[in-house]
Amino acid sequence: MQERQPRAQDQTAVIGELILIADDEPDVLEVSRYTLQLEGYRVHVARDGLEAVERARHTPFDLFLTDLKMPRLGGLDAFRRIREFEPAIVGVAMTGYGTMTTAIEALKLGFSEFVIKPFTPKELSAAVSRALEKERLRRENVRLKALIPLFELSRAFMSTTDVQRLLDKVAQTGLRETHADRAACLLIEPGTDRFRLAARAGKSLDPSLSPVWDRLGRQVARTRQPLVVDPNRSPASFLLAGEALETGVIIALPLIVQDRMIGVLLLGKPSGAPPFSQSDTDLLSVLAGQAAVAIENATLFRKIQDAYRELEKTDHLKSEFINVAAHELRTPLALILGYAGLLEESVEGEAREYLQAILQSGTRLRTIVDDMVNLRSLELKQVRLTRQPISLEEVIAAAVDAFQPLAASKRIRLYCDVPAELAQIEADPQKLELILGNLLSNAIKFTPPGGEVAVIVRSSAERECDDVVVRVRDTGPGIPLPAREQIFARFYQVEESLTRAHNGIGLGLAIVRGMVELHGGRVWVESEVEQGSTFAFTIPRSPAGG
Ligand code: ADP
Repeated sequence: MQERQPRAQDQTAVIGELILIADDEPDVLEVSRYTLQLEGYRVHVARDGLEAVERARHTPFDLFLTDLKMPRLGGLDAFRRIREFEPAIVGVAMTGYGTMTTAIEALKLGFSEFVIKPFTPKELSAAVSRALEKERLRRENVRLKALIPLFELSRAFMSTTDVQRLLDKVAQTGLRETHADRAACLLIEPGTDRFRLAARAGKSLDPSLSPVWDRLGRQVARTRQPLVVDPNRSPASFLLAGEALETGVIIALPLIVQDRMIGVLLLGKPSGAPPFSQSDTDLLSVLAGQAAVAIENATLFRKIQDAYRELEKTDHLKSEFINVAAHELRTPLALILGYAGLLEESVEGEAREYLQAILQSGTRLRTIVDDMVNLRSLELKQVRLTRQPISLEEVIAAAVDAFQPLAASKRIRLYCDVPAELAQIEADPQKLELILGNLLSNAIKFTPPGGEVAVIVRSSAERECDDVVVRVRDTGPGIPLPAREQIFARFYQVEESLTRAHNGIGLGLAIVRGMVELHGGRVWVESEVEQGSTFAFTIPRSPAGG
């Protein structure tokens, strides 16, 4: 006898479906076989009910076409028996006029169609095709119904980032969709192989059985496959679940994300309840797959949130510290600079040199303190612009003039190249001075003696929409590509602080970016290592950019 093959997953093919015909009248059997084979079906025949049951045990038929009255075993009983092991088989009854009541009984029993003898080949094929179509529609319906909870689930899962609510939802959904009476989500304790009861629904799990859950969890972790523990089906279940089996059938499904087992979903039914069906297992497998990803996402999200909160706390502390330190430094610094300035006029010789050194270092310190206060105000969005029509050419010329002494002290040629016809723009002159001052001070600081620094504005040929582009170009060491975006972050410096040859604390460019963006512009750097850097920023001609 041929070995019984599993039923094909896709049942949509019409041609080639497997049909078993049972009739004790050889003529009817032959005509039916011939008719259905002509339609493209694959047909097997049996001469009575018993033979039909035997054949069905070895071949997964799609449809059973049977006479109702046959020796040894009638069609109704044969169909009932076949359905015990092939629940999805479709039944079509062949009956005589005199046996109408039996035909109705057949329909009640689950036959989809019947044909009355004598029938024409056309009537037979129509009945068979209607019966198969009904079955297809029924399956489609079941599939669609199964999709609805999955759809609702994925929506609910993906929209919740609260891990506990998610776990509860997974347990409740498993319970509801499979008519189980208890459900539990066990998660693996990180760094161990022990399971922790993370959520449950329905009847409570007996805490004394936790070693059993651990055992089931570990078994599922080993095979990574759904595990059904059913005392009626497998005696081995007793070994695995022992005392827990008082609850009846248990199904355990792995929760796996990217090949990593994170836990187990367990569902139990009371003894005597119908076991988990294949469609229950299918649905639960999808549920477990989606749940695992959602749990992992929610856990990661919570970790990121925690880390972010921690960072925010640290950041707030740092910001507070900077604020207090800056304000505490400002007053004594103003006094030092004030008195040193006064004294400078009245002393001569060495003492005057010492005083100048005090003034120089004090001024540097004041710049740092001002930077800290400026940046903090920018971050707290406390800086307001006072826009007014200004001549960009004049503002640039003034800034360049202010830096000439510093440039000269390093033998750096400092100049500006701004077209005379540049129209007025609306901007805050003090903030522009701060932007240019920071960029010029960096350019001079990083350019070696003998180099060149220029502030360049091209005429209307180079405009970003209606923005003016200002460039500060130097012949310094340039900035390596990976650092180009980061230098605008506060405290970022390309050189390691311990080996740094230049002073500064890494706030200048962060302030530049803040001030440029406040004007509605943007800032970037174009640079070639060893050739120099060009810092460029745009300023809209007027606030609306028009
Ligand atoms: P600071 O100058 O106080 O270190 P900035 O925020 O002004 O802080 O600059 C950050 C870093 O960007 C500097 O430490 C330096 O590594 C780099 N940088 C800025 N301007 C230039 C430039 N013109 N040439 C080379 N590197 C520069």
